[in-house]
Amino acid sequence: MINKANSILNKIFGYKSFRPLQEEIIKCTLDKKDALVIMPTGGGKSLCYQIPALIFEGLTVVISPLISLMKDQVEQLQELGVSALYLNSSLSKDQYLENINLLSEGSVKLLYVAPETLFQERTINLLLSLKVDCITVDEAHCISEWGHDFRPEYRKIIEIRNRFPKAVCVAYTATATPRVQKDINETLKLSSRNNFIASFNRDNLYLEIIPKTNGVEQTMKFLRRYPNQSGIIYCFSRKQVDSLSLDLQEAGYSVRPYHAGLSDKERQKNQELFIKDDVQIIVATIAFGMGINKSNVRFVIHFDLPKNIESYYQEIGRSGRDGLRAHCLLLFSYGDIQKLRYFIDQKEPKERQIAERHLNSLLDFAETGICRRIPLLSYFGEKHQIKKCGMCDNCNSSDKDLVDVTIPAQKFFSCIKRTNEIFGASYIIDVLRGSESIKITSNGHDKLSTYSIGREYTKKQWLFLAHQFIQQHLINTDNDFGSLKLTEKAIDVLKGNLSVTGKIKEDFEVQEEKQASENYDHLLFATLRIKRKEIADKLKLPPYVIFSDKSLTEMATYFPVTKKEMIRIHGLGEIKFEKYGNIFMNEIIDYCEKNNIKPNGNIIKPNSKIITSDKKKSHNSTGEKFNSGMSIMDIIQETKFKRSTILKHLLDFVEENKLQNPDLLLEDSRLSEKEIEKVIGIFNKIGSERLTPVYEALKEKIDYDELHLLRIYYLAKNK
Ligand code: ADP
Ligand code: MG
Ligand code: ZN
Repeated sequence: MINKANSILNKIFGYKSFRPLQEEIIKCTLDKKDALVIMPTGGGKSLCYQIPALIFEGLTVVISPLISLMKDQVEQLQELGVSALYLNSSLSKDQYLENINLLSEGSVKLLYVAPETLFQERTINLLLSLKVDCITVDEAHCISEWGHDFRPEYRKIIEIRNRFPKAVCVAYTATATPRVQKDINETLKLSSRNNFIASFNRDNLYLEIIPKTNGVEQTMKFLRRYPNQSGIIYCFSRKQVDSLSLDLQEAGYSVRPYHAGLSDKERQKNQELFIKDDVQIIVATIAFGMGINKSNVRFVIHFDLPKNIESYYQEIGRSGRDGLRAHCLLLFSYGDIQKLRYFIDQKEPKERQIAERHLNSLLDFAETGICRRIPLLSYFGEKHQIKKCGMCDNCNSSDKDLVDVTIPAQKFFSCIKRTNEIFGASYIIDVLRGSESIKITSNGHDKLSTYSIGREYTKKQWLFLAHQFIQQHLINTDNDFGSLKLTEKAIDVLKGNLSVTGKIKEDFEVQEEKQASENYDHLLFATLRIKRKEIADKLKLPPYVIFSDKSLTEMATYFPVTKKEMIRIHGLGEIKFEKYGNIFMNEIIDYCEKNNIKPNGNIIKPNSKIITSDKKKSHNSTGEKFNSGMSIMDIIQETKFKRSTILKHLLDFVEENKLQNPDLLLEDSRLSEKEIEKVIGIFNKIGSERLTPVYEALKEKIDYDELHLLRIYYLAKNK
């Protein structure tokens, strides 16, 4: 039977091999042995019950709490030609009756159902008239009051299970705590011998934490690295969500907010736009993401500190579900810690203790100097086997950036001492940099010998240094007030007995990773993506249901142009090939002809650097096109990119490279020479970093489209 499972994996799902534990779980299910499966989000739980469902003679019932997920899963299965349906309160009466009819006919393999629908006597009676082979409980942590999403109706599932004694029962969850596991086993009366616990390591997620200095600027810089990619930005408060999404919108990003203050309708709409790739970025409070299955989320930014490690893990887990690399950035600020501490202090003693423990494990993770996967996985009770994962900032930072920072350390510590260890980092730095703020003068700290002796570094650089001193346990932060205290080690440094090494960075740029695994033809990828979107819109489906990003990436790597080659692509089974194989093959053939590429990746005339270079970014190819004399209109016509995308590429390009013949840009402007001069005058006066003040200075008469264009012109001219 496991051979059959393998062939279904290849032919229907289009995957080459099973992921860890999938095969064992499938075998156990087919043997009709109950089990509990714990696997992280994106680990591949669905396949473990979908494949047995196709092998069993009877029906597999999947109990799922999230209506939006049901729809998504059923759509994906139907796309694969699998007979799957769902029953929940979102169906119209006609749809409901139609589904009931299909079920009675007995040809349906998978039925997704919401608990409240399942408990209705008419549903139970219908199921009793059919052969039910498997009852799957998805998101099984909902059974437990100890889980983060308790649903009382889940407790009643055991009654259903008792009425179908011949069906095997398998529970699935991504929550790993032993308490929850025990609850599930007990409530569903599963034999705990069949617990499958997968590793919680998601090795395709790149983890990075940088000190937050100017969050908005840092975010924009990060976003420029991922043009046209989908991502989620998590903020602490609704207010922050609103203001950040406005900032990003003004800067030309395709972005929508998501939080509890919006109407249901608005939230639903924004989520839908995101899922369908009509909007690239969602700025959200933590509430976002539970009900979505979008596989091509390429980045998650934590603009504010997450609530605890568990939430952090869940939230980053929403990226990279297709197995391709995704980038998770956390902007870390000690100010946020103060805020959190303040909230924690308001709590009852028992809750406070738990909250403090959570915060401390988060700090351990954020401040660690070793591979980030070690503290992260150890939180989930897992020992990480590898010392260096190569997919986190700590593993990637090279030791050669380390310099001797004993002198600044001495200045910093001595200033802490002279101000009696009662101030936080920001105050100490202000004293060191000779600030004339009233707080400092009224404390008389402008008279200290350490006043103004640290002007050689910016406030950002000092903050970064302070962060490292804390990491190295040279100083501690006081839990209650955030004031800095010296440790024994710091005293040794002051006495000159111990030296300190650290890094001094120019700016907190997101690090470039050493190994970018992005060795595919970006232009072809973009072309295929447009095709996918076109088909998806026609069928009213999310694009990733047609093909995942991973499938498209493989096509843009291997240039398949025959059925045999195409079938080898990830996610391409027989049915998908029949539906879309030719459409996509034709796109690839067209593309190859236009660009003188012999399929299978062999380039006839290596005139196009896009393919030969490893880390080619699309903004570079746009820039190169422009430099070769193409106008913006020409580039739009050739690449089918949106104008705003081209402008973003050019902006990125001009920051690193020379843009030849900037005057050509003006062909794309509708403004008169005089107006252009006026705009340039304003740029000269107030800078071009942010466009809002420029827009306002021009009395809102010149629209953002023009300003985006002229900013590039301005930067190119002033290089
Ligand atoms: P989970 O329910 O555990 O969060 P899913 O079942 O939604 O995860 O699977 C996540 C992604 O991994 C999906 O896009 C799925 O198609 C893909 N996937 C699952 N198993 C495999 C496999 N053996 N090979 C390749 N891709 C897989
Ligand atoms: Mg799932
Ligand atoms: Zn690492």
